[in-house]
Amino acid sequence: MQGVRRGLEAQAVRPFDKDDVREGVAPAEFRQSSGAIEAPEVVVVNRASDCVVGLDEGEARARDVQGLVVGRGAEECAGEGGFAGAQGAGKQDRVPRPDRGSDADREAFGGGEVGQAHLARVPPWPMRRKPLPLPAKFRDNPRMNDALAPDALALHRALVTLDTHIDIPWPPGPEPFRDGPRRVDMVKMVQGGMSAGCFVAYVPQATRTPANEDAAFARAIAMLDHINAMGRTENGITARVTTSADAVQAAKREGVLAIVPCVENGFAVGTDLSRLAEFRARGARYLTLTHNGHNALADSCNPRRDLGDRETEHGGLSPVGTQAIAELNRLGIIVDVAHTSRDTMAQAAEASRTPIVSTHSCVSALCDHSRNMTDWQLDIIRDVKGVIQITAVSAFLKPNAKPDDVTSADFADHVDYAVNRIGIDHVGISSDFDGGGWFRDWKNAGDTANITVELVRRGYDRGAMEKLWGGNFLRVMRVVEEAAE
Ligand SMILES: [Zn+2]
Repeated sequence: MQGVRRGLEAQAVRPFDKDDVREGVAPAEFRQSSGAIEAPEVVVVNRASDCVVGLDEGEARARDVQGLVVGRGAEECAGEGGFAGAQGAGKQDRVPRPDRGSDADREAFGGGEVGQAHLARVPPWPMRRKPLPLPAKFRDNPRMNDALAPDALALHRALVTLDTHIDIPWPPGPEPFRDGPRRVDMVKMVQGGMSAGCFVAYVPQATRTPANEDAAFARAIAMLDHINAMGRTENGITARVTTSADAVQAAKREGVLAIVPCVENGFAVGTDLSRLAEFRARGARYLTLTHNGHNALADSCNPRRDLGDRETEHGGLSPVGTQAIAELNRLGIIVDVAHTSRDTMAQAAEASRTPIVSTHSCVSALCDHSRNMTDWQLDIIRDVKGVIQITAVSAFLKPNAKPDDVTSADFADHVDYAVNRIGIDHVGISSDFDGGGWFRDWKNAGDTANITVELVRRGYDRGAMEKLWGGNFLRVMRVVEEAAE
């Protein structure tokens, strides 16, 4: 809470104008608890008191929103938590712009705080269907009594929320449009306010024989076809395969889930670079160069001793790996260095014409793990305008931690560290769900808003959250699209 206050206070307070009003419907949680206010179309928050009060859009237009309409009783709810104070808002008064506020106005609204009220930006509500209820554990989270939680939830639902690493069961498992045993399915994505996901065709490492590499390629193709088939409407939910940054954003605007196909482990390529075009033809937008174990393209951060791997094999990228990067650039496929050795990562950054990413890693300074990025690696990510997508694997977040011992605060610590080190433009969020990722507060896609609540609590504002939740990754996607030939 204090972190949020600090964050809010750090923002310049400015007068209201029409731009502060967005058409939209207040979150269901707000409508349920706002009592006297019947489904307000615009949500207003008094920044000083953290109270949410309702404002009818028509009324706002009629008043030309010269000032701000807040409810009496705003002071009463300060410190109470929740937005129950909105119940006192049936009687509404017009408040002049902060720069014109009279002493009487200030008196009425708690001395000098008039000018600090602000409108929570609630853009057009993206859901065409009735929103599904949030998971009970999220609803019941005591943190949700914080007055700012409605803000965080509204913000969460307004943003493009892109999880950059999600595994699928193979052979195909439970129906993805039903609420099943997987950590990610379409129902949980909707419940958790997720708008997009990179679904990976992951191939496990095996002994590097031509036959095994061919089998790995066949599996990757079959998985990509399966991921493409997830673009459909079922059980009242529509998902669409999106293979460009614009398409991901358009899907969000249209209230459709966005599926971005990707491939994890260059083992599936073998040494036949024509396979990369086959991946691209099926929409693949990134290739993770390695998994655990060296392959023909590059060294991994986790050599597979059981497969005969030495500590290093190529000393980073192999010659064919360097050619693969040129081909990935040509095709518009992002180079993903999660799982690669540090030398591979540095050489890939050098070889690639476009920014590289790590789609699911954390930072070594907080948890020394071979899968995490050292400070100098983070600096490279920044220097090439790439992005590290902090991930939800407990052992990457806290040394030797079990998932139940890890919280969203631990996750946010890694985000904070990376942001402080290399800036808000180079950090993002991923889960690695169904591939080993999850922790206490983010057990499945349905819990995703917990991450936003924690980050907003720490003072990340809308612009920052937009970047973390997909804006940065979409920027890289776009650069890579434009550099493709
Ligand atoms: Zn992985």
